[in-house]
Amino acid sequence: MSQLATRYKEVQDRISAAASAAGRHGSDVELIVITKTHPTIVVAELADLGHRSFGENRDQEAKPKAMELDLLRPNSNFDWHFVGQLQSNKVKSAMSYAKTIHSLDRPSLLKEIAKQLAASETQIDCYIELNLTEDLNRGGLDPSMVKQFADSALAVPGLTLLGVMAVAGLDVDPRVDFETAVRISRELQQIAPEAKALSIGMSADYEVAIELGATHVRIGSAITGPRGNN
Ligand SMILES: *Cc1c(COP(=O)(O)O)cnc(C)c1O
Repeated sequence: MSQLATRYKEVQDRISAAASAAGRHGSDVELIVITKTHPTIVVAELADLGHRSFGENRDQEAKPKAMELDLLRPNSNFDWHFVGQLQSNKVKSAMSYAKTIHSLDRPSLLKEIAKQLAASETQIDCYIELNLTEDLNRGGLDPSMVKQFADSALAVPGLTLLGVMAVAGLDVDPRVDFETAVRISRELQQIAPEAKALSIGMSADYEVAIELGATHVRIGSAITGPRGNN
């Protein structure tokens, strides 16, 4: 087995084990492999292992990669997730390959998505991203704004609100941040009962995320290996 295949299998096993330990099923947790900074051939190798859900955080990198992958592995029905901060002027491009945006975090972005949906009569799945830090430069919405923002998102035709996404802060216990995300997720479900999904957990903290109820984990380096700064 290649190193990539070994790491992929190990992460899958650990996801199943973490789910079982929490009294959940491994199949209730979807693995999204984050492939940023890695070449398309790495994604193709994961595709050959049967994987279909991939995530990227920069449109400039994601778009050519998604197109190249379609050429390398045609008719594979890949499921691309956009997980990074999304500039409004990249929305149209991101929506051309991504089925899900994990980083819906501000009214101006919602407005642009609504505009593109109206123009193209397509659909998009979105998570509201939470900013759990004091750093306003990080992506994500202030948790106290979520209900109000969700009301506007729910009114957009073609947009399906799946739930909330969060990245645990640096140098803090991820459990604390994920517990906040769970609490906000419950608040969101009071006005959007279908928006139950919880996109939390990365390479360093996915097991605790699963323990706390993650439905989608976004895992990069634990599978693809280390990357340069991005
Ligand atoms: C890079 C990235 C990930 C994956 O990070 P790893 O630590 O490599 O698992 C997950 N979510 C987002 C938003 C990212 O940018």
